[in-house]
Amino acid sequence: MPIRVLPPEIASRIAAGEVVERPASAVKELIENSLDAAADEIRIEVREGGRRLLRVGDNGQGIPAAEVPLAFERHATSKLTSADDLEHIGTLGFRGEALASIASVAQVTLLTRHADEAAGTLARVDGGLWVASEPKGAPAGTTVTVENLFYNVPARLKFLRQPATEAAHIAAMVHRFAMAFPERRFSLLSEGRLAFQSTGTGRLLDVLIKLLGLEAARQLVPVGLEDVGIPEASAAAALPHVHGYVGLPSLHRSNRNQIFLFLNRRPIQDRTLAFAVTEAYRNRLMVGRYPVAVLLIEIDPALVDVNVHPAKAEVRFRDERAVFRAVQKAVHAALVDIAPVAELRHDRLQWQMPDWADRRQALLDAGRPSPFALQPAPGPQATPAGPAEAEAGEHAHSWFSPPEPAPANGHPPAPPQPASPASPQVTSMLPILRVVGQLGTMYIVAEGPDGMVLIDQHAAHERILFEQMMAAQAGLGVAQQTMLEPLVFEPGSLMAGLVAENAEALAAVGFALEPFGGDSWLVRGVPAVFGATDPRRAVEETLEGIADGRDVAGETREAALVAIICKRAAVKAGQVLSMPEMRHLLRQLESCQSPGSCPHGRPTMLMLSAAQLEREFGRHG
Ligand code: ADP
Ligand code: MG
Repeated sequence: MPIRVLPPEIASRIAAGEVVERPASAVKELIENSLDAAADEIRIEVREGGRRLLRVGDNGQGIPAAEVPLAFERHATSKLTSADDLEHIGTLGFRGEALASIASVAQVTLLTRHADEAAGTLARVDGGLWVASEPKGAPAGTTVTVENLFYNVPARLKFLRQPATEAAHIAAMVHRFAMAFPERRFSLLSEGRLAFQSTGTGRLLDVLIKLLGLEAARQLVPVGLEDVGIPEASAAAALPHVHGYVGLPSLHRSNRNQIFLFLNRRPIQDRTLAFAVTEAYRNRLMVGRYPVAVLLIEIDPALVDVNVHPAKAEVRFRDERAVFRAVQKAVHAALVDIAPVAELRHDRLQWQMPDWADRRQALLDAGRPSPFALQPAPGPQATPAGPAEAEAGEHAHSWFSPPEPAPANGHPPAPPQPASPASPQVTSMLPILRVVGQLGTMYIVAEGPDGMVLIDQHAAHERILFEQMMAAQAGLGVAQQTMLEPLVFEPGSLMAGLVAENAEALAAVGFALEPFGGDSWLVRGVPAVFGATDPRRAVEETLEGIADGRDVAGETREAALVAIICKRAAVKAGQVLSMPEMRHLLRQLESCQSPGSCPHGRPTMLMLSAAQLEREFGRHG
């Protein structure tokens, strides 16, 4: 084919794809425009996760009637005049691409009135084509309504996730801007529900109380200057200046999602700087736990390039190491007085393996109730076999015997048996396993017919709980533990939004949650599988799991939730198990339909065959 210049409508659709990847990116661009227009009241409205409709309204300076058509032109901007301006960008937008891009892949209506003009303008652009504009009375400010996003880009439509997921991305975007601009008031209306509102007081802590809840906000310490609102990015400050809040080590999360970073009030994603934050917590948090941090970095705009990416998602620092050090130092300074490291080392010791004396005691302590007897299954395998009975049963099918026909101890070689006498109803795909012991408080060592088997105690228990809960959900319903006194749960908007979005599925898997006004919920019950766990933690950890989760193809929302719950409820690595407990765990695993992997797909067991062992020891060939 000959080389041809693309027709403008195709070129612009390609370019639009770089700026508008999903509804949340359109919302981001529109919010940036409102902020650049000095609005202090910004309202965001979303329907069907932004696909049907998204609207951003502001009380900013508005667009003069004569300039409205230009606003939709590509590379048309009021924010840059010369190439020099690119060297020190003080606005959030500057590329003049957003409105043009959004309008080329949606149906856009703009209503605006400039503060100095008497009449406003209503304009409509459809798939990049100008439809109409007319004078129209309007309050000073601008409202952009975007309908049927990607209606003319089927490929992009296919990649959109469920409305709830897209809505969550939009909410996350609004939350970030609310943190960066505490002196402006943001509200987010999602499917007709007020999902979030910031106060606009200018105090970052007020925004964080809204977002994280009072409980978490109490565990925040200020970084840098006291919270006196944020000075406009000062061009004089060449050195990076870092301020904001970080959590005490008592406040931790299962991932880095609550490390929020801003550069000159622009939300940024930066792995290196996130690492600078976690580094400052070294030895203060348990392995696998991450801090909460909201850090605003101010730097001379001349020392940073924000023009790296069409969506302005990445930035490049002239001196990245200086910024890294500034972040690390600021966080460290905030923590050092309040949470000395020495005191916290104690936690880490407990996290490591218990000593052998503890372990022996646990092994001797055969009579205590099994932690696995949470949901007794019907049939004789429901109660753990007593030690004597199980011992006898297991010796009878120790198939991993040496090839010699008559063992020295006089026992006759065991004949192959279809099922354990202790658990006659097992229709297992697993062979019968004899427990040998526990390894590193993480693995169960067992002997099977073909060799040695190592079972990951956590993964195995996850699988067991998962199948029990899924069966219960399909049948009579998931066992619930109801509270004597319902407890009031005030998780902050970040999490309260998740409760609302997942209310039905949460109920289906055993939670009883009732709206209690604003962002508050009443917890009346949690899935019984959580056992003695603090019900508040049970709800929090489940929500954390949802926030963490990627959509799992082919799985129902309930199954995904059950997997999240089981991961948190299952016995952990590091927990000492007695012989009867381990036996009971294996008997239950044998009765699972897919005993070989946990609900997240990790293997539950590894095997070292008799043949492999013989080879390794040089007994054969
Ligand atoms: P950019 O923000 O990079 O300049 P956009 O395509 O986002 O490009 O917007 C084009 C222009 O339209 C802006 O430069 C600004 O002058 C005007 N504009 C867009 N949104 C608003 C708004 N909410 N309030 C006032 N002016 C706006
Ligand atoms: Mg813009």
